Amino acid sequence: MSGDDREEKEEFCYLCRRPESTAGRLLHLQQNICICADCLQKSFDMIDTPGHPMFGGNFDPAMFSAGMPPFASMNAQKVKQKKPKEAKEPQEEQAEKEPVSIPAPHRIRERLDEYVVGQEQAKKVIAVAVYNHYKRIRDDGGDGVELEKSNILMLGPTGSGKTCLVQTLARLLQVPLAITDATSLTEAGYIGDDVESVLSKLLAAAGNDVEQAERGIVFIDEIDKIAKKRNTNSRDVSGEAVQQGLLKLLEGADVEVPVGATSKNAMVPMTTINTRNILFICGGAFSDLGRVIRERLNKSASIGFSAELRDKYDEERDILKYATGEDLREFGMIPEFLGRLPVLCTLEDLSRDMLVRILIEPKNAIIRQYKKLLAMDEVELNFEQGALELVAERALDRKTGARALRAILEEFMLDIMYEIPKDENIGRVTITRDYMERRGAPGIELRGQRPAIGMSMP
Ligand code: ADP
Repeated sequence: MSGDDREEKEEFCYLCRRPESTAGRLLHLQQNICICADCLQKSFDMIDTPGHPMFGGNFDPAMFSAGMPPFASMNAQKVKQKKPKEAKEPQEEQAEKEPVSIPAPHRIRERLDEYVVGQEQAKKVIAVAVYNHYKRIRDDGGDGVELEKSNILMLGPTGSGKTCLVQTLARLLQVPLAITDATSLTEAGYIGDDVESVLSKLLAAAGNDVEQAERGIVFIDEIDKIAKKRNTNSRDVSGEAVQQGLLKLLEGADVEVPVGATSKNAMVPMTTINTRNILFICGGAFSDLGRVIRERLNKSASIGFSAELRDKYDEERDILKYATGEDLREFGMIPEFLGRLPVLCTLEDLSRDMLVRILIEPKNAIIRQYKKLLAMDEVELNFEQGALELVAERALDRKTGARALRAILEEFMLDIMYEIPKDENIGRVTITRDYMERRGAPGIELRGQRPAIGMSMP
């Protein structure tokens, strides 16, 4: 037998397409289907994953020996596909275009105010962008004027409320939301998640309903970490290549998406999602961007007579608000990528007063949560203004924005939450600054007792 003959006869794994010489001995199923040991193992692993859509939890191993149906037909069992267009009545189509009634920008802003403190400019920009985005979805473009997508690029220090804003937005619009980290993404074929994985997450958030997912929001955090690397000779698989990979998603395209997994492989069922109406919001701290902005501003200030302006820029805490597309390009974002994120908004660094407000004002503020917990034991919990300020000051020192607040408060509240339920006579507790500085005890009042003199109750 010649070498060519042998090659012609070599069998391939039905799933991964590797020849037997590479994949090892193949298992022969009915209908001339062969499968390699790796693929067999992968499918058993998946069956162990509860609720994996591939088999809908009803896997019958006999399927293998009986010869498997093609995977595409399995997808249809779990993923709710779009109905064919021509089957829809005009009214039905109109209803579908309006998934929820979209509130006017000022209403969106009001709802954002309930959960997010400060960040006025960002809230306004986002409210308008979102309103326009959903108007665009309704528009059929019949008059020849095509509305462009209003994807958003959000710049802001860590812990300043970027994720919180997006979560609130998705909740109020009642659309599915997927949050992903740009640092986990790599160019297809390298270790890490493909860019399409963000859509898999969105599909999962939409309960595998493709139509819902196609109107959802994708938030890609840490986007500054995929800036183009400078002075590198190796292929930039987690930087520029990821930006390139995201382009078609941001713009709007039909994308093949693995269902129930974050990476494509032969064992994962696929479905198609159109990203035209998905709102993409990219966020990042862009901490080094400040240097780029300052350099540009100082250069233009030194051309004129404005030496004092230079000092102003050097001391400016919220330098990111001066960011331009040019600065972002200089930072390492590619122009095509920036072009697909036309709405730019900046969040400010949180001041001590804003941190105090974050402790008490939002609907789900941390202090409200503690109060609720103690109220369940019929104990009223109060905080002195000074105590709240101390928490905010310590959070400022940690430089992680509002993110540090809970951890700091938890340190002090542990003893309170442990001790108070011991004594049923306690009716009211006041956390004082002295207690937090370990210079005194919290104010305790027994039930029916009058408030202690000098104790402030915010
Ligand atoms: P990031 O900007 O890093 O995405 P997050 O939105 O995740 O920050 O904020 C971290 C925590 O701090 C969350 O619990 C969030 O609720 C709270 N937080 C941050 N900024 C604000 C804000 N402006 N208003 C209310 N809560 C905030």
